[in-house]
Amino acid sequence: MTNPRPRIVVFSTGGTIASVRGDGGGAEPRLTGEELLSAVPALDTIADITAVRFRQVASQELTLADVIALAAAIDRAVAAGADATIVTQGTDTLEETAFALSLLWNGDAPAVMTGAMRNAALPGADGPANLLAAALVAASPAARGLGALVVFNDEVHLPVFVRKSHTTNPATFRSHLAGPIGWIVENRVRIALRPAARHHLGIAAPPDAVAPVALLKVTLGEDGRLLEALPERGFRGLVIEGTGGGHVPSAAVAPLARLARIMPVVLTSRTGAGELLRHTYGFPGSEIDLLRRGVIGGGMLDGPKARILLSLLLTGKADIGLIAKAFATIGSPNDGPPFIWRAEGGV
Ligand code: GLU
Repeated sequence: MTNPRPRIVVFSTGGTIASVRGDGGGAEPRLTGEELLSAVPALDTIADITAVRFRQVASQELTLADVIALAAAIDRAVAAGADATIVTQGTDTLEETAFALSLLWNGDAPAVMTGAMRNAALPGADGPANLLAAALVAASPAARGLGALVVFNDEVHLPVFVRKSHTTNPATFRSHLAGPIGWIVENRVRIALRPAARHHLGIAAPPDAVAPVALLKVTLGEDGRLLEALPERGFRGLVIEGTGGGHVPSAAVAPLARLARIMPVVLTSRTGAGELLRHTYGFPGSEIDLLRRGVIGGGMLDGPKARILLSLLLTGKADIGLIAKAFATIGSPNDGPPFIWRAEGGV
């Protein structure tokens, strides 16, 4: 960065990092972005930072439409001179919003997402430390060109890999498949690894146009009886979290195959780590059986991330061929050039 004091805009959205005890006794997201900044005086030594109140909610209230709007707001902030942005939000859905943002935001300025596991009223509140680490990464020349990142507990994670892995532990964010790509030590930012590809989906959608996609986790004895209801309930796609390498009970095969003829169905694994198999098992309901019947393989994407990708693609009116290509590329590093797609009217 040429500017010795980088300009950073913080978009606050609520979550535990912004929470204090509410009237009912439980923590509620009440702190503004300005209040978050004022709790960390050391931020002044890193950058000129301003705060924008983007939303003020628990993160399960956020939607994909919010992330599309957030990407546009980041675009405007950078066009107005920001060198980087930070997004503070609740941790519960951070892995989903970060993945969506990583696909939607294609500028060089880092967009660093963070939050907290312990609210401001608790001993060992981690919000201030996470905000400081996020600012260090946002201001770091090493982070330029990486797009959206998740910074938490002094680690830097790629959104495509990161998952919340524990209900309360401050080290909750883990990237099981590839590990964190960097860390912060004594205020120094280390980016040790860079991603194999950076993908981009240029989509601009009015909030009511985001395509609904269902996510079904397959469990013991699942017979697929819910599936018939999906089209009439307005769903436009389905993601299945199959068992193990990508399997369902044989009873669920026919309903799945019927559904795959009328809407995209993407297969992922419920295990939480590892890539979907493609040609190992041959029994009814195996990955070979399902892929042959028109189900799309999700590669290394887990269910929630596959659902984000499918919903974005459908929102941009991608056809089934393009959807299969997106999953083949984004779900499997090194299997093709970066997936770069601008939907009609998209950015
Ligand atoms: N469920 C709340 C949220 O995601 C609190 C969890 C958190 O922020 O860590 O906003």
